[in-house]
Amino acid sequence: MTAASTASEVNVSLSEGVDILWQDGHRSHLNVRSLRQACPCATCNDLHGTGESLLKQPSAPSTALPMFKPTGATLLAVEPVGRYALRFTFSDGHNTGIYTWEHLRRLCSCAECAAPKPKRD
Ligand SMILES: [Zn+2]
Ligand SMILES: [Zn+2]
Repeated sequence: MTAASTASEVNVSLSEGVDILWQDGHRSHLNVRSLRQACPCATCNDLHGTGESLLKQPSAPSTALPMFKPTGATLLAVEPVGRYALRFTFSDGHNTGIYTWEHLRRLCSCAECAAPKPKRD
């Protein structure tokens, strides 16, 4: 655990998302939409189409699938998971994603973090 992935202050707005002040002095605003899109749970990673599905569900009716709703999402609840992560409950009822601080830090999309990182060989 480094200062860059340790939160020293977290402000939650259920309609806006979370603001995190990191121990290295960096501030991140993560809106609900980007949090929802970045959900690390197996179901969402499958929906995002990254890699092979580990949870093939042969004939589930499409209405029963957790639908990805990129717009209009809000948070219903935010709870800490130990000292290492946050769990978000989204307005679509989804709450299986555990967002570690490291994951949250990677989601920061400010100009500084969005800039390409120098390659280290
Ligand atoms: Zn998920
Ligand atoms: Zn940043």
